[in-house]
Amino acid sequence: MASVPTTIIDLARLSLSHGEGTRLDCAVGLEPLELGGQSYGASPGPVDVRLDVSRPTSGYAFRLRFPLRIEGPCARCLEGAVLETEVDVREVDQPGVEDEELRSPYVVDDRLDVGRWAHDAAVLAMPARVLCRLDCAGLCAVCGASLNDADPAEHRHDTGGDPRWSKLRELESE
Ligand SMILES: [Zn+2]
Ligand SMILES: [Zn+2]
Repeated sequence: MASVPTTIIDLARLSLSHGEGTRLDCAVGLEPLELGGQSYGASPGPVDVRLDVSRPTSGYAFRLRFPLRIEGPCARCLEGAVLETEVDVREVDQPGVEDEELRSPYVVDDRLDVGRWAHDAAVLAMPARVLCRLDCAGLCAVCGASLNDADPAEHRHDTGGDPRWSKLRELESE
């Protein structure tokens, strides 16, 4: 099945009394994540998420945890980059409370949309830029070669190492 499965938890069926809690492990399929116009694959295949549900005096409190693996182009050198991180987020939902902060957008009619929450949490867990490694040297601004494989001492354009200048010298000497 190609479509991303939705994972909806029917909270009423958990039959939790106030003060009780439970833990659910389920698999959630994540859609690709968009960042800076690039699409990043998120944990190919379903991710095993761990959901803690507890029932305080009113409403519900949730904690969602899962390992996130992001794959896509490095923002500096465009080589394939893999980033692994842990997502750990919380939500509360207290119906009948005016405060928007205490309502979860993922709970509708006593059903928690774990899939949508996991997707949004994955987006928030993404760094501003995905890099193949923290010290990625990026591409040479002059010739566009990846500087990760280049010896900085040898890859220079300002002290005679620039291929264009040597080309020019060749022409001059002709
Ligand atoms: Zn890179
Ligand atoms: Zn260069």
